[in-house]
Amino acid sequence: MATKLKKTEAMGAGGGLQLLGVVLIVLGAFMEPVGLVFFGGLGLLLLIYGGLKANVLKCSDCMGKVEKDARVCPHCRADLK
Ligand SMILES: [Zn+2]
Repeated sequence: MATKLKKTEAMGAGGGLQLLGVVLIVLGAFMEPVGLVFFGGLGLLLLIYGGLKANVLKCSDCMGKVEKDARVCPHCRADLK
């Protein structure tokens, strides 16, 4: 019986988005007040979106990515409970 493991992928697409968000916030800090609102807001959005993308579920059997509502692993067909 396999289980879904919660993983945070810093190297995936989500991690890259988060990094971009931090860069934008830092850039915005140098360009206040307008830049801070514009870049800071955009950077914050990227941080949140990247954080969502970075959180993935993995099959405990094959370590393949699985969807949140998947009942069977799409990679190794293991039963996910
Ligand atoms: Zn699997």
